[in-house]
Amino acid sequence: MPDISRFALGLRARLAGAVRQHPVLSIALALQLTTAVALGAVWQTKIRHSGDLNDYRDLLVDDPGGSSGATVKVTSLGTTMMLVDDGTTQILIDAFITPAGLLDAALGRPVSTDPDSVDTALDKVGADRVRAIFISHSHHDHALDVAYIAHRTGATVHGSPSTLNIARGGNVPEDRLALLDPEKSVTVGSFTVRTIASKHSPNPMGGEGATIDKPLLQPAPISAYKEGGTYDFLVAAPETSMLFKGSANWIPGALAGVHADALFLGIGGLGRAEQSFSKDFLDATIGTVQPAIVIPTHWNDLFCPVHEGLPLQRKLIDNTPAAFDTVLARTKADGVDIGLLEAFASITIH
Ligand SMILES: [Zn+2]
Repeated sequence: MPDISRFALGLRARLAGAVRQHPVLSIALALQLTTAVALGAVWQTKIRHSGDLNDYRDLLVDDPGGSSGATVKVTSLGTTMMLVDDGTTQILIDAFITPAGLLDAALGRPVSTDPDSVDTALDKVGADRVRAIFISHSHHDHALDVAYIAHRTGATVHGSPSTLNIARGGNVPEDRLALLDPEKSVTVGSFTVRTIASKHSPNPMGGEGATIDKPLLQPAPISAYKEGGTYDFLVAAPETSMLFKGSANWIPGALAGVHADALFLGIGGLGRAEQSFSKDFLDATIGTVQPAIVIPTHWNDLFCPVHEGLPLQRKLIDNTPAAFDTVLARTKADGVDIGLLEAFASITIH
């Protein structure tokens, strides 16, 4: 008999003996082992990050060259939050820095803006001339920190009725709340910002179209941050333009006639979408807007603090490498540049 078989038989006999002598202890041990194996399987298939950013290192851009009227610097703060700076005026797109953990979300624990995290991040990117904050929709990963940032910067909050209720809950004065209006462009310094009605990416959990109907006070569970309508922002500077699309979906025809030099494209959920959906989405965005460069956004693990870097989204939420590969194939086919921004990295748009 091979040694390994003899060892297995011996182990089985010893285990059987242990169960006979200590039945309760053995059952407890078996339960613990089963739980550990189950947790291990959940970690591998659901919670683990869906890929490694190192595999996409060639796409990383960090060009803090600065802004000078003709150029605009855009700096990432993770997820879809971007600081847009023409050297005089700054605009923020979305407002989410506070690390709200996976457990907070899973257990429905109430969360609040963490001033230290927000201050550290805004200091790091030199956000000291922010005049306006535009929020693409009012889920927590776009709008959690809007009230605190409005207070800190003195900026006006531009958002849906739901987003304005998040700001009201944080006591932002009414004269600094502006309702998004797709019919009217907004001038901020030398920027002109046009709001374009859009649609949230398909959410398996539902909740599309839900609204926040009264001031939302913190702390509040993540689930209290209802979508409240989804919008894209076309930010035009005198010599360049950028389209910020926070969520991977679209209203047919909404981007007809829209051109932008840079497309900040929210790809959250795209890694799990049907191929036909991805193709139609990229036709409606890259194919229509025809940018010189695409900067994918909303690909990082939104439960990981931004100052710890940007790991890819967890398997539970998305298959980020698949989303990257889909967008990469499209930009290659169209002869369009592509760049990824790590946390606090910048790109200069010409
Ligand atoms: Zn959302």
